[in-house]
Amino acid sequence: MSTAVPGTVYLVGAGPGDPGLLTLRAVELLASADVVLHDRLIPLEALAHVRADAEVIDVGKKGGGDQVPQDVTEDLLIERAQAGRSVVRLKGGDPFVFGRGGEEAQRCASAGIPFEVVPGITAAVGAAAYAGIPVTQRGVAGAVAFVTGHADPVNPENRLDWAALAAFPGTLVFYMGVRHIAAIAEQLIASGRPSGQAVAVVQSGTFSGQREAHGTLATIAQIAADAGVQAPAVTIVGDVAALAPELSWLTVARPLTGVSVAVTRARAQASELAARLRALGAAVIEAPAIRIEPLDVVVPPLDQFDLICVTSPNGAEQLLARVHDARALAGPTIAAIGPGTARTLREHGVEADIVPERAIAESLVEALSEVPVKSALVARAEDARDVLPDALRARGAEVTVLPLYRTVAEPLEPAARDAALAADYATFTSASSARFFHAAAGTLAGPRLVSIGPVTSEALRALGSEPAIEATVHTPDGLVDALLADAAERR
Ligand code: SAH
Repeated sequence: MSTAVPGTVYLVGAGPGDPGLLTLRAVELLASADVVLHDRLIPLEALAHVRADAEVIDVGKKGGGDQVPQDVTEDLLIERAQAGRSVVRLKGGDPFVFGRGGEEAQRCASAGIPFEVVPGITAAVGAAAYAGIPVTQRGVAGAVAFVTGHADPVNPENRLDWAALAAFPGTLVFYMGVRHIAAIAEQLIASGRPSGQAVAVVQSGTFSGQREAHGTLATIAQIAADAGVQAPAVTIVGDVAALAPELSWLTVARPLTGVSVAVTRARAQASELAARLRALGAAVIEAPAIRIEPLDVVVPPLDQFDLICVTSPNGAEQLLARVHDARALAGPTIAAIGPGTARTLREHGVEADIVPERAIAESLVEALSEVPVKSALVARAEDARDVLPDALRARGAEVTVLPLYRTVAEPLEPAARDAALAADYATFTSASSARFFHAAAGTLAGPRLVSIGPVTSEALRALGSEPAIEATVHTPDGLVDALLADAAERR
């Protein structure tokens, strides 16, 4: 398997919604592509894998409104590929299942552009699995059909052969048909499908907000309407749908079931925190307001320092990405600001010598008080506080501050903003995520604010909001533990 090749178009399936259902090939291509054109209905987290300098085009909508027309999308694909760039066309589910991937492949073929197709888990299969419905089952359903429910079923021009569908010996899964559920059910019954047959409608399948409606062909339209089921949803018709009560596994109550949590940290780092919260049952809203932008700096020879301070997990990532000979780190004492940064260093094979319990600069200053320092390097963010360099200088050390990255504002989608403000909790893992989120959202009012530690809490207070919870251990895990304790108390 290779990374994305210049001049090639990759038609990539992003799976139905759960970011864990992206394929390895999809992630590999996203991480290496020059250009990514994506639909609206993809796991947002998929974009976390994209190179910071890649061109990302949302063709799912234009200026928050209409979808980019299909021919314009195809023109973009061809243009970018002809300009010698590697292009990922990221589509929800599978690119060749109701995804117009076939048409895009045809356009590439006729333009002489090399292309590759990366299958994805299609919505029918993903949503059914997450609803506890096997689409085939020995003795129950020996076939499954994917059917478009897009065409108005009572429209005479509708191409669906209802008699054939009603007679189909297996499970029918309708895509794009929520608005027509009543008509679909009626047509199937009228054409001979038993009215008592089980039907499940699964909305936002595999996303954290998955919702379901269960009934029979006779009752499902009313049940789905009462439940307010909306697109995107698949309608699963067949006896297998009756297995859901026995096989449903997603709804087994977990500690954060029914609790919604907004994650405001940079997308590239949000995934671990989001995954942990999801595993605990929370509905996670990713509302990144910041992005990490690596700076183009030259790292001085590291063996000239007797102390290297790393003041954030990002700083650790960025520093070690620039170290080309690990022996340069053999001499200096390495200090990490806290356990989270120490963990990132460890993941890269560096064991910090000094790690204060509390991940704040003041604690690191204290932990260093007994360490003799002549020349120190502080690897950090451009916009970090000067507490540590100032304290080291005051002790007579020569200090080189090495700004490795900066945090910049990430545009906050209106939908993500509203969902985050309506959530039960909003989590803040740094002072800058608090400031940038506040700037983008205009307010912090609504959710219970969860702060990773005192510096972040101070930033929240400066914005006029008192955090409801402050983690005692200043790591993402510590933040989750604090949130869990609060949620348990409030149950
Ligand atoms: N290529 C996609 C389908 C695109 S058509 C795939 O293979 O899944 C869009 C339709 O797919 C929606 O109207 C809905 O019926 C279905 N769909 C997509 N994502 C879904 C999800 N997470 N849950 C339920 N249905 C979904």
